[in-house]
Formats: sequence, structure tokens, C-alpha cells
Amino acid sequence: MSAEKTFGYYKEIAARLRLPELAYIDGGFRPASSGRVFENVNPATGEVLGTVAHCDHADVDLAVRAARRAFEDGGWSHAAPEHRKAVLLRLAELVRRHTEELAVMECLDTGKTITDCLHEIGNEVPTFFQWYAELIDKTFGKVAPTGSDALALIVKEPIGVAGLVLPWNFPLLMVAWKLAPALAAGCSALVKPAEQTPLTALRLAELAAEAGVPPGVLNVLPGFGETAGQAIGRHPDVDVVSFTGSTEVGAYFLKYASESNLKPVGLEMGGKSPFIVLDDATLDDNLIDNAVRSAFWNAGQNCSANMRQIVAARIKDDYLAKVLEKTKAMKVGAPLDPATQIGSMITAEHQKRVLGYIETGRREGAKVVAGGGPTAGQGGYFVDPTVFDEVSPEMTIAREEIFGPVLGVIPVKDVEEAVRIGRQTEYGLHATVFTRDVDRAIQVARRLPCGTVAINGFTEGDIKTPFGGYRRSGSLARDNGTEALDQYLQTKTIWISVG
Ligand code: NAP
Ligand code: MG
Repeated sequence: MSAEKTFGYYKEIAARLRLPELAYIDGGFRPASSGRVFENVNPATGEVLGTVAHCDHADVDLAVRAARRAFEDGGWSHAAPEHRKAVLLRLAELVRRHTEELAVMECLDTGKTITDCLHEIGNEVPTFFQWYAELIDKTFGKVAPTGSDALALIVKEPIGVAGLVLPWNFPLLMVAWKLAPALAAGCSALVKPAEQTPLTALRLAELAAEAGVPPGVLNVLPGFGETAGQAIGRHPDVDVVSFTGSTEVGAYFLKYASESNLKPVGLEMGGKSPFIVLDDATLDDNLIDNAVRSAFWNAGQNCSANMRQIVAARIKDDYLAKVLEKTKAMKVGAPLDPATQIGSMITAEHQKRVLGYIETGRREGAKVVAGGGPTAGQGGYFVDPTVFDEVSPEMTIAREEIFGPVLGVIPVKDVEEAVRIGRQTEYGLHATVFTRDVDRAIQVARRLPCGTVAINGFTEGDIKTPFGGYRRSGSLARDNGTEALDQYLQTKTIWISVG
């Protein structure tokens, strides 16, 4: 199929889509209690896609009551492991079957490329439901070593009602990261998608019901942070919050918890991640592909974006020339076109913010060598992939999270300086290191205070490896891996005295 024809194919799917508009509470769609709605915009065109229920504390309260009732009646929380497993496997299958519909919906809602939407929704999202489903009947408790006068069981129990508050940059994938382990653990859940991207989470709720998730176990509450988000954070009957978003809002959830029921709060937040290239690295196509992808993947709207590229001065000119060649060849444009590599920013306001950072970079003395402005000839909120040379670690663009398609090169004289600058951030989510010297790679990885270090390839790991941040990037909670289950389980000791 030619790229043009395929673009047409996805446009046809888009034209036929039925977009969700209502909240999903207690097993059914319903308007917000207040009757209020908000407009949802396609950021690639600026057009209004439709309206969505604007949930507030009254809807959150309704959903919490349904979730609590479902948790207490045990139809899900106490179901046989094989039953929960079968339901979540069916959900994985339903997502696979509806991949194109969900991916096109996500593409319209976010301005992300259809290629990324298809990958995330066709591969990653179902894999999450499948992987946690398969863990359910293979996760064991412990028996403590005691004398013969006792038997001590250490068991894990679902924590109860989980509030999952999510960002807009990977909407359905972030639902899967949190919902799959929460449901696998036996919890009931409230999902609060970002206000910009409510659609696929709502459609997923329907598929979950079709798969056999009982009413009340999954509730999806579109709304705003100050209304629905805050109501979840402050609700006395929500047992845990798992949040992904900005560091600023993550801090609010700690405050909400301290002012309500002291619920535990899992936080996955921002980053300012380094991409370190030591002087022995081979500047081949693979390395440069990784460099460009680490900064421009998802148009740079990525918490683990490796925007700070710290490169040995000796090879910097060669590096920059190769990065520029790839950057200038990138296709920015209509997200539904499979040839597109960079989609739009999420909103007009965010586009303005990213362009503001680019301006600040220029003003503070960094040199724009590619891009540097909005994309010409596009109706929506696009920014050209932008490369800065001569960035220094003190500059605003080297310290603050830009969350846009911006790559900055910081030359360094040796590995010591690379590590010092790599560490010079209040965040600690991710880092990449390129070198052929395995000893140096491990030494650098050990010295970087962050949750994931990728060596000789930009990656966040996969479903089997925990993901989360040090410092202001996260709490002790981790998404992914068996570690994610810990957010939704609590530990009980049952001590039996033996006569
Ligand atoms: P955000 O503004 O912090 O929003 C995240 C969620 O919190 C949204 O659902 C938002 O609702 C809600 N919210 C906002 N203000 C709130 C308040 N006062 N009380 C309660 N809830 C509130 O983040 P974002 O702009 O959507 O996403 C970008 C950020 O997420 C970046 O900093 C990025 O680094 C981070 N991120 C981190 C990871 C990770 O795994 N570490 C992954 C992806 C993204 P509204 O939509 O209504 O604002
Ligand atoms: Mg939208």
C-alpha cells in the first residue's frame, strides 16, 4: 500500500468514528452530575472534536461509592485468580481487535503520529493487560521462618479503591501501565485521564465491561485537575493514588493526602535526562538514530526525553553534523499520515510554551542550528524539530523540562565532566550512555542518580523492568515489572500459634 493510500485509509476510519462523550461510572455511561461538558480539540487542526462530560467531586463521590461497593462485594477483589486472569486476557484480545479504531481515536485526540499510536495500542497496551493477567495465578505469598510453635504467613491483599491520575502524552498506554496491575491486584479503580485526552480511556471502559470486568470495578472520569483530579486526591475513601504528570502537580497530591486520609501516593513525574556520548563511541547510524529519537520521540513530549546531549568535545562537530542531517530529514505534519514522524504539540498553549523556551535558549546564548520555530504551512500546533549547539549547563533550556522537540548539545572535555553535568539536575528519571568501554559504562551508570540508565541504546526498558524516578522525578513507587503490583497491594502478617 502506498503511504498516500494508507493516509486515506486512516482518514476514512476517522470519518466513521463514534467518539465517547460521557463519563463511565458503575458499569454505564452517564453525563456529569452537573450536566456540564467541556470541548475536546484536535491539536493537529485546532478543530473541536466534540464535547465530553466534565466530572467534578459529585461524580468522583458516585464513582468511589460504586468502586467501594464492588470491592467489598468481592466479585472482583476476591474472585479466583484464574477468573481475573481470564477477564484481563480477554481485554488484551479486545484491545488488539480494536487497535485501528483506538489508534485513530488517540491520534485525533493528541496529535501523536498514527505510527506511534498503532504501536502503543496494538502492541504495548494489550501486552500490559496480558502480562499482569498471567502474573495473577503465579504470585505467591511467604511463610516466615519460625519455631515449631508458630506458623507465620505473609500475605498480600489488594489495597482497595485506587485513583489513577494520568497525563496526556501517552494516554492509553499510561492507563494500561497503572490499570493492568491495579486490576490484577484485585483493586477497584477510578481513572482520571488528562483533560486534553479523554477518549481512548472511555472506549477502553466499554471493552473492559465486554471482557467481564464487573460494574464499579473500573470508572473513568473525564474532567479537570482542579475538579476531578483534586476530588480524587482528597477523597477519604480512595485508598491509594498513582499519579503520572508534572512534578508540580505531583506535590499537590502529597498535600491532598496529608489533608485527607494519608493515602499512599505513587508519583511518576518530570525529567531532564542526559544522553552522554563518551569519546570512544562509534558515531554510526545506530547511535545517531538513538540520539534523534531520544529527543524527538512523541515530538519531545516525553518524560524521559534525552534533551541534554552531553558529548565529548573531540567528536562533537562530527556528532552534530550527523544529528543535523537526520533532524532536517524528519517529516513533520498530519499525524494520520503514516509517513509523518513528528506530530503536533498537545495544545496551542503548550506550543507557545515550547517556543518560549526556544526563544530563551537563543537569548541566553545557545545557537539554533536546526528548526527554531513553528512549522510552516500547518494549521495546528506544530513546532519544528530544533537543535541547539553551544548549550551550557546553567542555561534555562538545560535545566527546565521543555517537553517539546528540542535537542541541545553540551560539549565536555572528559568523562568526569560528563558525569558532573549529567548529575546536575533536580530530576532523576533516565539517562543514556554511549561508549564501547563496558567498565566505563557501568561506572557512569552507577554514578547517575536516576531510575533507568540505558547503555548503548535509548530505551525505557520493557514491561518486565520497573520504571520510575529518583529525586524530583518520582516517589519510591515504580510502574512496570512485578514492582508495579506493590502500589496496589498491602502486606498482612497472619501469625498462628501452634499448640
Ligand atoms: P500535569 O499537568 O501534571 O497533569 C497530570 C494529571 O494531573 C492530569 O490528569 C491533570 O488534569 C491532573 N491535574 C492537574 N492539576 C491538578 C490539580 N491541581 N489537582 C489534581 N490533579 C491535577 O501533567 P501533564 O501536563 O498532563 O503531563 C506532562 C508531565 O507529565 C510532564 O512533566 C512529564 O514529564 C510527566 N510525565 C511523567 C511520566 C513518568 O512516567 N515519569 C510519564 C509521562 C509524563 P488536567 O488534564 O485537567 O490538567
Ligand atoms: Mg484532545
